[in-house]
Amino acid sequence: MEQGHGTKCVQAGYTPKTGEPRVLPIVQSTTFKYDTSEAMGKLFDLQESGYFYTRLANPTSDAVAAKLCALEGGTAAMLLSSGQAASFFSVFNIASAGDHVVACAAIYGGTFNLFSVTMKRMGIDFTFVSPDCTEEELSAAFRPNTKALFGETIANPALAVLDIELFARVAHAHGVPLIVDNTFATPINCRPIEWGADIVTHSTTKYLDGHATSVGGAIVDGGHFDWMAHADKFPGLTTPDESYHGIVYAEKFGMGGAYINKCVAQLMRDFGSIPSPFNAFLLNLGMETLHVRMPQHCRNAQTVAEFLAKHPKVAWVRYCGLPGDPYYALGQKYLPNGSCGVLSFGVKGGRAAAETFMKNLKLAAIVTHVADARTCILHPASSTHRQMSDEELIACGVAPDLMRLSVGIEDVEDILADIRGALEAI
Ligand SMILES: *Cc1c(COP(=O)(O)O)cnc(C)c1O
Repeated sequence: MEQGHGTKCVQAGYTPKTGEPRVLPIVQSTTFKYDTSEAMGKLFDLQESGYFYTRLANPTSDAVAAKLCALEGGTAAMLLSSGQAASFFSVFNIASAGDHVVACAAIYGGTFNLFSVTMKRMGIDFTFVSPDCTEEELSAAFRPNTKALFGETIANPALAVLDIELFARVAHAHGVPLIVDNTFATPINCRPIEWGADIVTHSTTKYLDGHATSVGGAIVDGGHFDWMAHADKFPGLTTPDESYHGIVYAEKFGMGGAYINKCVAQLMRDFGSIPSPFNAFLLNLGMETLHVRMPQHCRNAQTVAEFLAKHPKVAWVRYCGLPGDPYYALGQKYLPNGSCGVLSFGVKGGRAAAETFMKNLKLAAIVTHVADARTCILHPASSTHRQMSDEELIACGVAPDLMRLSVGIEDVEDILADIRGALEAI
């Protein structure tokens, strides 16, 4: 019988043998000792699995990756130093100069910049499609050299919900995998692989860590994409890798392991974006309570969203748990137990009213972070986007009065009292 989410959160990834530490040990060592060079050589040649240098593999990180893999229902997984590294690796592992990728336009700003500016400079072309596009519109964005389709389960900060089944169907019809950034939903609220996604990425910095202690990322492979069936599209997986003695990843590791083994053996080897073993340990500690924290984030956010929607000083609220929300139906389908703790809203009176509101908050902290235990808030127009005029803000999809509220797991009465007080000050 497959274990439940809660049991996996607490126990998956690390099973000590008799006499070994009960808690996942922090293997804070760059290197591992062998009795003969021959034994080490086998590891270098990927003939045997084992540890020799922490840039390629570390027991603490591997255990945490295995826990996330179990939670997402994947076949292989890896940790990285940040969510940005995970987004980059997830695409660059199967696309190179001259290739093309289709991505949903409603994605994290950092990912949008990575794709549209930095990876474009590396010779990879991106086409961005609306999260609300039809099957025909999505299909029309594909080219013969398209290598992947990318989207976010719940977009940060647009809060659009991805129609994963539709995106997966179109990706597969064009012979490419669907990559889904599942940061905001977490595997507690949505498992994209079950809906047809092939690769799942995370910024573990957010709910998985949950306490805002460690920046980190992860990639999980669902193991369902048949690289050999599209061998001409993915030569990196289906033809010999001369930097690894002619290994053909798709042959050696099969559908379940080819993508992640290549990603570690080539990209991690060459770019070195590893988490420290200590950060992996902290991530594991956070994940041990993920299944307890997520429902509380969702209950609190739902209560706050309903309160805001009824308040006379509030102009609008976006949260897919509200029946009037444009993504309510998709939310009910893909996130029936709740979406996440993040919502956005605007107050009547625009930018100035929003600034007054922000000044009068006491419990909700003003930080450029989302999705941790503490309630926090950001008003882009007076902080991250303050150089922009109201017209420029609207053009890039950020209303001057937009505030992004990340509802924490404190007592909801205290969160409501804080918001109520700040609204009265307007
Ligand atoms: C924060 C975030 C990222 C980037 O992650 P970092 O860990 O900050 O590098 C990527 N995707 C989403 C959805 C995010 O929220």
